[in-house]
Amino acid sequence: MTMTKETLEQIKVQIRRVLKAEGFYAKLLEGVEVDTINSQKDFEKLPFSEKDDLRNAYPLGLSVVPEEDIVRIHSSSGTTGTPVIIPYTQKDVDDWAELFKRCYEIAGLTNKDRIHITPGYGLWTAGIGFQLGAEKLGAMAIPMGPGNTDKQIKFLEDMKSTVLCATSSYALLLAEEIQKRNLKDHIYLKKGIIGSERWGEKMRNRIAKELGVELYDIYGLTEVYGPGIAINCDYNTGMHYFDDFLYFEIIDPKTGKVLPEGELGELVITTLQKEGAPLIRYRTHDLTRIIPGTCPCGRSYPKIDVILGRTDDMVKVKGVNIFPGQIDDLLKEIEGASSEYQVFIEHADGKDRMTVFVETELGEEERITFETTLKEHFKTRIGVGIVPKAVVLGELPRSEKKTTRIFDYRY
Ligand code: ZN
Repeated sequence: MTMTKETLEQIKVQIRRVLKAEGFYAKLLEGVEVDTINSQKDFEKLPFSEKDDLRNAYPLGLSVVPEEDIVRIHSSSGTTGTPVIIPYTQKDVDDWAELFKRCYEIAGLTNKDRIHITPGYGLWTAGIGFQLGAEKLGAMAIPMGPGNTDKQIKFLEDMKSTVLCATSSYALLLAEEIQKRNLKDHIYLKKGIIGSERWGEKMRNRIAKELGVELYDIYGLTEVYGPGIAINCDYNTGMHYFDDFLYFEIIDPKTGKVLPEGELGELVITTLQKEGAPLIRYRTHDLTRIIPGTCPCGRSYPKIDVILGRTDDMVKVKGVNIFPGQIDDLLKEIEGASSEYQVFIEHADGKDRMTVFVETELGEEERITFETTLKEHFKTRIGVGIVPKAVVLGELPRSEKKTTRIFDYRY
């Protein structure tokens, strides 16, 4: 994104504040003279910050305001070790509510809606963010939290909820339960606001059909307010984000180079108005791209694509960045391909070799054609040559946890 003068000024104010607070950003930005940052190029020379940096500031090292200004903390659900604590001032809480209200408005919600909130309440930012936005919009918040399917369905019926906020998996569970109990005619839902994660088209269509709703992807992370910083509009061509509060960059996750609009890479966020814990060039490790051009809905907020995966899962082969989500999508288009695959990358005879094993139900004779199709699709869709290998269903290992699909033996 091209940085406006106003954005640059906002960023400089933020940098002055973090330097003055002498917290971890002051260390990270040591030696940086704010007055010498006069262009986007200057800004792009600043170092990135990482979740580990935030973790090292535990418990309250991220705060750049006096303690009496902090009204709340949230904590991001780290998978291991020390959590990240984000302090919020009253303005941060109000701003977050404003951003969330905008998301609801983009999804077409009004103060007549009844918003059924199933994400959890507590240290993390999910449920309470959905609630703040609902209240700011003047809609009726129904703060269910997760679990207790019977009660969820009872409230959906009796409270005549019009909007369901949920993760994709919980929305699917409720949809299936409603179908099983044959209660579709007793449900008044019109829209579903689904926390942005990678979820397949098939799942999306099922939720939409079973519940009879339009679905919207909402994005956010605890480090940057929480959910509610981007959402898709009715045209469904990406998620609008709020460039008066946030500056988005897309970088090559391997080199750190800022990529032009439209190119796929890692989302890096700088907050423009956050008081309690501003973030400068924060690496999200989420894979997306900035979608160029204007939106048919007429809103001037720029757009990012839905989150296509995590950069941690990405590999670079023959100069091409490849990530599992891309391969999932590609296999869906190939007749006979199951969703199970494994990729092996080796370095031999001075070049990279990528072997892709895909499970298929096809018989011996059809496999040659299948492998040729596979090879062609990888070449045209991803731009990389592969060695295709068809294997029978069930041949590739399964695991209870998230299955590793890409094995890189080059290093
Ligand atoms: Zn739009």
